[in-house]
This record gives sequence, C-alpha cells and structure tokens, in this order.
Amino acid sequence: MTEEDFIRVENLKKHFPVRQSILASLKAKDVPMVKAVDGISFTVPRGSIFGIVGESGSGKTTAGRVVLRLVEPTSGSIYFNGEDITKFDREKMKGLRREMQLIFQDPFESLNPRMTIYEAVVEPLEIHKIGNSDEERRKLVSEALEEVQLIPPEDFLFRFPHELSGGQRQRVAIARALILRPKFIVADEPVSMLDVSIRTEVLNLMLDLQERFGLTYLFITHDLAIARYMSSRVGVMYLGKIIEIGDVRDVLDDPDHPYTQALMAAVPVPDAAKKRGDLPIRGETPQPINLPPGCRFNPRCPYAFDRCFKEEPGLFAVEPGHGAACFLYEEFHKGRLERGRLPRE
Ligand code: SF4
Repeated sequence: MTEEDFIRVENLKKHFPVRQSILASLKAKDVPMVKAVDGISFTVPRGSIFGIVGESGSGKTTAGRVVLRLVEPTSGSIYFNGEDITKFDREKMKGLRREMQLIFQDPFESLNPRMTIYEAVVEPLEIHKIGNSDEERRKLVSEALEEVQLIPPEDFLFRFPHELSGGQRQRVAIARALILRPKFIVADEPVSMLDVSIRTEVLNLMLDLQERFGLTYLFITHDLAIARYMSSRVGVMYLGKIIEIGDVRDVLDDPDHPYTQALMAAVPVPDAAKKRGDLPIRGETPQPINLPPGCRFNPRCPYAFDRCFKEEPGLFAVEPGHGAACFLYEEFHKGRLERGRLPRE
C-alpha cells in the first residue's frame, strides 16, 4: 500500500445465505449462498474518484456498503488511511463514521419525511456531539446548505423534503453527508433518480466539493457516461467480481473484457453511421447463486473456449494498470493464442 492509497480493498467478499422454506432447508445439505461480492480488490488514491460500474445485480451497491462496513464483510480487508477497519470494534468504528459517508440513490432514504431540512442536516452534528450551542449548530447547517448551493439557506431550513424538487432533496442529502467533514464518500447512483436535465448540475456540484474539500469518492453507477465523467479509474463488476479495472478511458474507450465490450456496444451513439460493432451476448445476467464453474461470464460469452468452463480467470494485466479477468489475454501473451482471436482486434 502506498502512502497515497487512501482506500485499499483486498479480496473483499460478502456472501448471503439464501432464504428458503423450512422444508427446503431441512432437505438441503448446504445452505445456498448469494455471492453478492466475491473477492474484489482495488485502491483509491487520496483525493481521487474510483468508479464502480455494473448492471443491476452486479453487486456494486453491496460492495459500497461493505466498504463502509454498513454491511459486515464475509472476508477480506478494507484499509482506510492505512488501517484495516475490518478489525475495528464497534466503538472504534463509531469514531470513524464521521470520516466516511454514504450518499444514497434516493434522497428519501436519507431524509425523514417528517423532519424539516434543518432537523435532517443538524442530526449528524447532534449524533456526533459537534457544536457547543444551538446557535453554532444552526450556523453550521446554514453553511452546509450554502455549500450545496441551497441559497439563501433560510428559504430551506424549515421546509420538508416533499416541498423540494428532486435535485434540491439530493443537495440536502449531500449537505447532510458533508456537514461532518468526511474524507471519504461512497456515492451510490446519486443522480439516477433525478431528471436528466439536472443530473449534470448535481454531478458538477459533487466534483466542486471533491476538489474544495479534497474528498475521496467511491462512485457507483450503472451509467457508463457518468462513470467516464466522474472517475479517474474504474472497475467493471459482473456477478460479484471486478472483471476489468484501469484508467477510465482505457477501460471504457478501449475495453478488453468481452463483457465490458458488450456494455459499451449497448450504449446508444448519436450518429447511427458511427454505430459501434454489435457484440451480442447471450441472455440476461443470471443470479449470483449457483454460478457456473469456470469463468462466470462463460454462459454468455461469444469467445468462450475449453479453459473458460474449467478454471476461473483472475485479473490479467493487459497493460500496466489495466487488468481484465479473461483467459484470452493470458493465452495470447503466453503465445498460445494467435493474433486476431482477441476480442478487440
Ligand atoms: Fe469469455 Fe473465457 Fe474470457 Fe470468460 S475467460 S470472458 S468465458 S473468453
């Protein structure tokens, strides 16, 4: 771990037991498990943005919650500023909560509809016993609302969430996260519930705040264009694994893994003449239970060959800093695959 690796996640797993009927559980030899996060590793340098992209069911939301230890990991390590927080007890974790915050997809998840905006934003200060007086806390709340451009704050303090627009509600949720002066923020699809017209405003606000406060973000999205806009590095998740990782432009402009290529091929482009080559993948993303042996993408992969059905690929460095979990590259680099068989050639 380098000094600049503010967040380092190593082989992180979260497996959930599948709920079944009493009869089924009596008959079953082993409890079936959903491998929502199944051994992911990545680092996030201080003050940078790491994007996690993936379709629904890829495990990206669970990954974000596990990194914050809002959901306990099954195994693996999470280093925060050099310390493995999976070893922290409840008390030590409580002290750290101030420094790591979550911004939800739906601001209603973090805003109680019966609380005024003031009550919602002041609550974290009260929980962490920050501010010596009501007056001081009121000042901090007003400043936080100004920081997210809810100006003048007096116009918002005593309104309720339902009286605000979706964009204003998400700004309040950001103010609520920011008021504790965190160092690390997990933003889970923070604009996907907002009108397209105001998404860029909220994304730009998040970028401004990141720069202003030197924040480190883990930015989770299903939208590849948003991942490209926000992140410097990105990991693509498929069925609980990161199957491709690297600088955002290397991964999204020149993807190596057949799944990333298929995701990119599915992105609409404005000019039909420049339509990307179709890369049909078969079927829907399966549930992360009873994963196929070998590469978990093999049932849908147009390039699958024998080895893909027997072994699970690890990340192979296709270029420095750019990895793809696909045997094709390993086979090619070992000279066992002739040129022209790689998906992007
Ligand atoms: Fe396809 Fe095999 Fe590569 Fe998996 S390892 S993505 S099945 S070619």
